[in-house]
Amino acid sequence: MLPPSQKALVPFISVDHMMQLINHIGLEQMLTGLASAIEDDFKRWQSFDKTPRIASHSAEGVIELMPTADETAYGFKYVNGHPKNTRSGLQTVTAFGLLADVKTGYPVLLTEMTLLTALRTAATSAVAAKYLAPKAAGTMAMIGNGAQSEFQTIAMKAICGITCVRLYDIDPTATAKAAQNLAGQGIKVIRCSSPEHAIEGAQIITTCTADKQYATILTDNMIGAGVHINAIGGDCPGKTELHRDVLLRSDIFVEYPPQTRIEGEIQQLEPTHPVTELWRVIAGQSAGRTETKQITLFDSVGFAIEDFSALRYVRAQVHGTPFLQMLDLLADPNDPRDLFGMLKRSQPCPSPLEIV
Ligand code: NAD
Repeated sequence: MLPPSQKALVPFISVDHMMQLINHIGLEQMLTGLASAIEDDFKRWQSFDKTPRIASHSAEGVIELMPTADETAYGFKYVNGHPKNTRSGLQTVTAFGLLADVKTGYPVLLTEMTLLTALRTAATSAVAAKYLAPKAAGTMAMIGNGAQSEFQTIAMKAICGITCVRLYDIDPTATAKAAQNLAGQGIKVIRCSSPEHAIEGAQIITTCTADKQYATILTDNMIGAGVHINAIGGDCPGKTELHRDVLLRSDIFVEYPPQTRIEGEIQQLEPTHPVTELWRVIAGQSAGRTETKQITLFDSVGFAIEDFSALRYVRAQVHGTPFLQMLDLLADPNDPRDLFGMLKRSQPCPSPLEIV
């Protein structure tokens, strides 16, 4: 058997190392870097293999695989969504992911993606708001103050320049947690007592709640002209956040229509209802916000290309740092066709008396 140093080892980023990497880069810098990586990849949308994610549904939640590839790299993420998990001390969303070399098929990175998903989702929301929100939007309502919420807020500050966030959650302890985490982050934090209170004076409204039902976090009478809505939490069949009438008054922007029509807010509309793909706005092929009174809606469900961008960004950033370990994940026989021989070599040596 080859000594570990000569084997085909795969770089692995643990949760602990990911936290150290984020702190090393700086959260705002990393969100900005991820946003640029996502924008760059959205601009070359045609170069990716695309498919709606492969979802396995149960009464409690969903487990999904999210693959995509370009000419040189292949990536996938494993992610779950289980809204009731928090009641038993587990997270709603956990994830890990892998990047591989298309030429050889060999993995080049395995990483935790629970933190990375929160960052890439926040970066994607901020990219959407950069193109769609009213100019000089300063205040965001953040409805749903769970695991994603602080990341959503800080990305919106770093990339879109918001200066005030208005927090609301049905669970006041979640709002208290978010307010405490956001204290000292250079943003004014206001705790609100209802969704109506939260959206007062907000030019951007982000909904990021978790409940496996057709919820109505926002109803039509709550939405004034000219706002931008990021609907993040409705990302599964039978799991939405906005009343249908809000959708009918909005210009709707999506990631990948074949996936969003199944999973997004627009599952409530006719399959032919017009939507604009966000990548086209970023690439200058479609208009984003054209009028001050327009209501724009980013119907986010999370798409594989955002994870691919995040995996490649992290691989570049982690290079040369101590924030990774090398995993013995791939068999590496001396002769590639002698896998059996590799197994035999690992057997304990027989004592001389046993050799006849
Ligand atoms: P979480 O469970 O940590 O937080 C969800 C919060 O929503 C909780 O604090 C809960 O009390 C609150 N909530 C539930 N119903 C509410 C209501 N009616 N009004 C106000 N608040 C309400 O979950 P999380 O990790 O923050 O994820 C939030 C949602 O975002 C989930 O539904 C998840 O599936 C989704 N998500 C989407 C993407 C994407 O790319 N679009 C990525 C990650 C997560």
